[in-house]
Amino acid sequence: MRGMRPRLYDAHNHLQDDRFGGRQEELLAACRATGVVRMVVNGTCETDWPRVLALAKRHPEVVPSFGWHPWFLSRRTSTWRQQLIGWLEQAPQAAVGEIGLDRWKPDLPYAGQEEVFIAQLQIAAARNLPVSIHCLRAWGRLLEILAAERRPACGFLLHSYGGPVELLPRLTGLGAYFSLSGYFLHERKKKHWNTFQQVPADRLLIESDAPDQPLPAGAGRECAEAAGGRPLNHPANLHHVYAFAAQLRGVTLAELSQQVEKNFLRLFGS
Ligand SMILES: [Zn+2]
Repeated sequence: MRGMRPRLYDAHNHLQDDRFGGRQEELLAACRATGVVRMVVNGTCETDWPRVLALAKRHPEVVPSFGWHPWFLSRRTSTWRQQLIGWLEQAPQAAVGEIGLDRWKPDLPYAGQEEVFIAQLQIAAARNLPVSIHCLRAWGRLLEILAAERRPACGFLLHSYGGPVELLPRLTGLGAYFSLSGYFLHERKKKHWNTFQQVPADRLLIESDAPDQPLPAGAGRECAEAAGGRPLNHPANLHHVYAFAAQLRGVTLAELSQQVEKNFLRLFGS
């Protein structure tokens, strides 16, 4: 392996996001230059879905993912289910996401979130497609729902996992993968470091979540530009998250990247 650059897999980002201001080609080129070979690009609402598919058609490294994120549910149309199925059928290697449950965001109604989440989980389960799940302060309900409902046999991703360490065994038993994001590089997130040391090696994934979850400011960390004064995370920062994960788990970058590659290909397909 000496001298060989690791192949990096971004388990969760939002490359289609408007905040990137149409700079997707440039961002992808920067990602390739750092060793990123695949990325799951998550749409979060109906208007995202055509853009996600267009990126996947132009760029073989893009795994398209289609879903309704809990933050944007009020915008969904009455035909959202048929539309979701339609986009999934146009992309044989698609995933379902980003979907989820959120009881953390102020002023976001919880009513209705479970119904839409379960409907999307069922669409994925029926087609055995991997799912990317967002969960904030709803771990008890998420666990109950996942245990009660049909799940995709290939498994599902709990992106940027911030749940209790105690839930790892039960979630793993249900088919969960857990992704580490740059958010956890912040010193204030130290209490989660132990969780990522305990994640089973065959269930660990790495993500950028770009343009969200910027890394702590520091040497070599790229910013995709500040929008309204808030820095945007650059997807090419993924290698910093890999380096952090290797350090956290006491393995070499080569060992970590080989394990993450196997996990990514098992969940999202080769
Ligand atoms: Zn996300």
